[in-house]
Amino acid sequence: MNDGALVLFSGGQDSATCLAWALARYERVETLAFDYGQRHAVELEVRPQLLAAMRGLDPEWARRLGDDHLLDLSVLGGVSDTALTRDAEIVMQDNGLPNTFVPGRNLLFLTLAAALAYRRGIGVLVGGMCETDYSGYPDCRNDTLQALQSALQLGMGTGVTIATPLMWLDKAATWQLAQELGGAPLVELIRTGTHTCYLGERGTLHDWGHGCGKCPACELRAKGYADYLQHA
Ligand code: ZN
Repeated sequence: MNDGALVLFSGGQDSATCLAWALARYERVETLAFDYGQRHAVELEVRPQLLAAMRGLDPEWARRLGDDHLLDLSVLGGVSDTALTRDAEIVMQDNGLPNTFVPGRNLLFLTLAAALAYRRGIGVLVGGMCETDYSGYPDCRNDTLQALQSALQLGMGTGVTIATPLMWLDKAATWQLAQELGGAPLVELIRTGTHTCYLGERGTLHDWGHGCGKCPACELRAKGYADYLQHA
């Protein structure tokens, strides 16, 4: 359609890496986040500083990075009952999925992103979904996203595509990708400026970044960073 990309940018490590990936590739990049009643809004709070810092890393990125969008998706908290939208212990459920799984979340996110991209004249949606070392969320699978892309193309009558640069990377490789895209300054920005922790804990700065250090998201991030350092 054109040379623009819309990045699902939550403020976490993965989406920040996706944003850098898009800035290295597309002439015009816009960002989008959803407020769906996450029980901790820390991710959303770190976004403006992250966007400003991204602009500061590279004048070309500053030129390319355009509007940021925030959509209210509080309805998601009304229809689902998960550990991300209410105060509950993170546990594994009988169906093999952790109760941090918000059913249909990525389907909704990408459908709304496609609608916004349509209005903005943007042809590529970029998301940090990954099925390499993930929590088993079915809406992060490549098959799901390929099927959704077909549905969006048919349903919107456009050639909109979904790009998932992290799909086949583990967390260590995601750090490596950041290193390749923006060198040490980008790695440092992602390490200190992004937020991944499920519990919304920000206080301590570990070598792998901020977070409680105990929840599944922190454990994955810490392990990935350690692996990355080992092979860097
Ligand atoms: Zn945590």
